[in-house]
Amino acid sequence: MAKFKTLDDLGEIAGKVALVRVDLNLPMKDGRATDVTRVQASMPTILELADAGAKVLLLAHFGRPKGARHSTMSTSFVQGDVERVLGREIMFIPEVMGPVVEQSIGILRDGDIGLLDNVRFWPGEEANDPAFAKGIAAHGDFYVNDAFSAAHRAHASTEGLAHLLPAYAGRAMEKELTALDKALGNPEAPVAAVVGGAKVSTKLDVLENLVGRVQHLIIGGGMANTFLAARGVDVGKSLCEHDLAATANAIMDKADHAGCTVHLPYDVVVAKEFAANPPSLRTCNVHEVAEDEMILDIGPQATEALADVLKTCRTLVWNGPLGAFETEPFDTATVALAKTAAALTQDGSLTSVAGGGDTVAALNHAGVTEDFTYVSTAGGAFLEWMEGKELPGVAALSA
Ligand code: ADP
Ligand code: MG
Repeated sequence: MAKFKTLDDLGEIAGKVALVRVDLNLPMKDGRATDVTRVQASMPTILELADAGAKVLLLAHFGRPKGARHSTMSTSFVQGDVERVLGREIMFIPEVMGPVVEQSIGILRDGDIGLLDNVRFWPGEEANDPAFAKGIAAHGDFYVNDAFSAAHRAHASTEGLAHLLPAYAGRAMEKELTALDKALGNPEAPVAAVVGGAKVSTKLDVLENLVGRVQHLIIGGGMANTFLAARGVDVGKSLCEHDLAATANAIMDKADHAGCTVHLPYDVVVAKEFAANPPSLRTCNVHEVAEDEMILDIGPQATEALADVLKTCRTLVWNGPLGAFETEPFDTATVALAKTAAALTQDGSLTSVAGGGDTVAALNHAGVTEDFTYVSTAGGAFLEWMEGKELPGVAALSA
């Protein structure tokens, strides 16, 4: 992993202005956030800087205003949620640069926190316009990026600022980068990757990257159907991308050459209709799926075999559920394997890192999020990292 500076590298910061990029893009309902996980993630960074006497200016995007002011997308809507999480009052500043920001900094005392407005109100943000970034940077003494979830974007507040001010990774960013490095950057072998979810087409780059880096590639979910079909298995009316057969075979060949074992299920849970506990529910060998049945989860024997694979591994990286986990009982394999991974992690034999929107929901459903080494809520940034891409916001921190 490229080196980056952290808050430990900050000297005396009392009275200095910290520009801190955070993720405040909270899911909202009736004017209140329904989930404040993202604020909680950045709380340690914000309070550490404030308690060291810096004037902390929070910088974030909120929704997709596409470069124009939008009354419904002001960060003032999340001010109350941020205050509740931090347990402190903060000052809302309806600009990101200029005299209003200057005057507000004058009013803030050392250790106070200000919240700048939605940085995406200005087209310079997403265009990563150097003049726009300079305008913001003029107000700060240093820059802290604590929003890994936005680091796959080369925007002014996620990338540009890092070149204009002394730049540091916040505590959440530091934790995320350290965990991801342990999982794929510099992992302890053998490494297993679980890739599941709905479609192969959304995760081609992930699969391509992983086969060259892990010893075991475990494929589940709808993706497994495409791989099984590519091997000549009749998957009935399962979700399956038949046009990707050649691609799936190429990935399996590449894995072969790289010494990566690809694990596909040999038993599956099927039904004729997609509903909770349908009357047609049954478990069968992959070669026994009827024409009018669909595969909705991997079977108990496959799950047990995968648990045995994890027992031989030191590292696990997981993206994508093994079945249609939102509907009972198609959460069974995902929950069981997640529990195995959690137990191995707690025993100290496995480093387990997982991410992805539905994966986080599935692990929460299994009740194991706390028992994994790290669960990333970063969505798009996490996937791009699994694709082996360099994230511009991270690269800029180590420049
Ligand atoms: P993530 O958000 O973690 O990256 P994906 O979005 O790729 O995961 O996939 C999650 C979705 O895949 C879930 O909605 C789940 O119901 C669906 N899924 C998993 N297995 C199957 C299956 N066998 N058939 C249909 N859908 C499936
Ligand atoms: Mg998803």
